[in-house]
Amino acid sequence: MVLTDLCEACQRNEVNVIETSDEPNQPYKLCNSCHERLLNYSLRPIEWYNLAVVHSPHKFLLHDDFYEENGEACQPEKDTVVTKKDKAPTLRDVQHNLESLLDFSITRWFLEDDVINALKKHDHQRILNAVKSRFYGTENDEVKSRMLEIAADVLGTCASEWVRELWADYNGKFLYPLSWATASSLPAEEGLNTIFKELKWISEKELPIAAFTCLYRFRSSHILDWMESTCTTFNDHWGRLAAVCFPTWERMKSWLNKGRPLSLIALDTMENCVKGYGDIYVEQFSPKILGTDKNEVEQIVNHYYQKDSVPRVKMKVARILENKQEIFE
Ligand SMILES: [Zn+2]
Repeated sequence: MVLTDLCEACQRNEVNVIETSDEPNQPYKLCNSCHERLLNYSLRPIEWYNLAVVHSPHKFLLHDDFYEENGEACQPEKDTVVTKKDKAPTLRDVQHNLESLLDFSITRWFLEDDVINALKKHDHQRILNAVKSRFYGTENDEVKSRMLEIAADVLGTCASEWVRELWADYNGKFLYPLSWATASSLPAEEGLNTIFKELKWISEKELPIAAFTCLYRFRSSHILDWMESTCTTFNDHWGRLAAVCFPTWERMKSWLNKGRPLSLIALDTMENCVKGYGDIYVEQFSPKILGTDKNEVEQIVNHYYQKDSVPRVKMKVARILENKQEIFE
């Protein structure tokens, strides 16, 4: 086929060189001059862009240490003439053409709102077909992962059958983006039970961050039930996860009563409802503790402090009482 014989970067000259990349199954296929520019971090913007569409910008030689997001080389080891026609396309240039827009989405470090909103203007069934065809048509894990992110942030329930198929063939890869796609496409209970099963394979050390990353988008009380049977040690991520699930005051009281680690997680959960304390993921949900009898908060948390008078608890109790209005509803 003629097409596959063209240099992946300039898309004009014939391929002369196969250069290994960080993805063993996916080498760069380049003409001599693009090959030289790749190794000298001196690609023209459109050449960088064309390579990033196929290989993603996460590859070492295409990395953001060497190129801006518009493909301009920031530390070229060789001077290269760059004219107007060598510019990489912008979102404005590609937004009306679905395939070009998907190309563009792959060249971004993160899938951000501007690209998500541009994608949402296209027919969802067409996006789904295009996303699946790219997912199965590449060896590149970052590209596959970006297609799952698009399913999560753009397609919603339109992707539910595909997400079920992916879980049916699940081989341990893409747990995070597949979990995000699950949160937006499957009924919560079905999605959560599937992910809880996979989390059983995660080591105790990795579990808190993995659980937060997989589950934060569900914001469901089933997660709090699961945490009660799962949390064996304290970790900051448990309080972040519980906060975004909007627990009730009754639940917080019962965790304080159960003692460590759940009591410490309860204090963290309440503290995570204070703006400026949590991180961006937690803050975007403006978490609250619901159904609170505000008259008893002070007495209950102070009572806990008497049983567990360590500096950490003292500090948390003080912060919770100072910010009662913001935390409790
Ligand atoms: Zn070339």
